[in-house]
Amino acid sequence: MKKLHIFMFIDALGWEVLQRHKFLEDLLPHRYRVEMQLGYSCTAIPTILTGVGPEKHGHLSFYYYSPETSPFRLLKPMQYLPPSIFNRWRVRHMISKTIARIKGYTGYFELYSMPFAKLPYFDYIEKKDIFVADGLAPVSNIADEIKKRGIKAHITNWRNSEAENIQALTRDIDKGEINFAFLYTAAMDSLLHRVTKNGAEIQHKLNWYAEKIRTVLHTAHSRYDEVSLAVMSDHGMTTLTQPVDVKSRIEKLPFRYGKDYAAVYDSTIARFWFFKPHVGNTIKHVLEEIKNAHILTEKEKIKYRIYFPDNKFGECFLLMDPGYQIAPSDMGTYALPGMHGFAPEHKDSYAAYCSTEKPDKAPEWVGDFFRLMVGTLDDIVAGN
Ligand SMILES: [Zn+2]
Repeated sequence: MKKLHIFMFIDALGWEVLQRHKFLEDLLPHRYRVEMQLGYSCTAIPTILTGVGPEKHGHLSFYYYSPETSPFRLLKPMQYLPPSIFNRWRVRHMISKTIARIKGYTGYFELYSMPFAKLPYFDYIEKKDIFVADGLAPVSNIADEIKKRGIKAHITNWRNSEAENIQALTRDIDKGEINFAFLYTAAMDSLLHRVTKNGAEIQHKLNWYAEKIRTVLHTAHSRYDEVSLAVMSDHGMTTLTQPVDVKSRIEKLPFRYGKDYAAVYDSTIARFWFFKPHVGNTIKHVLEEIKNAHILTEKEKIKYRIYFPDNKFGECFLLMDPGYQIAPSDMGTYALPGMHGFAPEHKDSYAAYCSTEKPDKAPEWVGDFFRLMVGTLDDIVAGN
């Protein structure tokens, strides 16, 4: 019997988004609310692809303090060029592409809004394509597991648009040679950032996915005896309550960036490295005064699988309360209508898993998707 297993990833299709809209209820009757991995897509996707948390796969956030290894040292003079031109997204995107080409990076590489003056203090985590074999080495990812078993599979090239990705999968299915597919789509995330979970465009987009999925399955059924499908996501989307300017409270202190401390302001988490004890104490005191945020305890870091004994991603993490975004941040100047990266326990943070077949064990955390995919690979080898 010829069987095809399709796992489809829809970025930001959170549990709450699903509760508010219609999406393939007939086709995907088994539905689970799944805890996200604290962090961003750059944290969750490696977790989904390996089944382990950031403390094991090493991808917590894009930037980490490491001036000795920083690939951005050459950009130092750019801080003196007119920001009106060099801070434009398009220009920064072109600079990102150029650096990636020169350095031979194959991963998702974006400067975002990280100031040119700060970049030389930091190294970047996603230099390699994490979707291919060895992409998260020494940790084994789904591509390694496929390779190990000699299974014929299709994995999306994430650099292309989702319409192209669906087309590429359909072409491979039509050849009838693969038994496993991992389809990656990311446009839902940017839409949700823009219109949030109740936006009128969301149902329209879900209908688009539903229609594409039905067409893919139609092709699959013409080539295979049996087809299974699971749709999964990495997190939900929380509507903006209020932006909080964490950065200026720190920058007005009499401390020198790079000498006394370093900081990265992600959208929901600010991370700090302290180079002098009194600086750390003062900054922590200022952070404690900020309403709608708290400093993560060691216990919380362990619980969220983000405890790094060497403090690679910072020794102090300020996590914002759900809905309160850090703005301006190093990811963008303004708060967005929707954001993710808040406490995983908040209802809008939850990811989702929907499938045609009931999984042996319900996924509870996004890392469990890896276990379900590997279980499927084993079934393929066993001929089930
Ligand atoms: Zn996002």
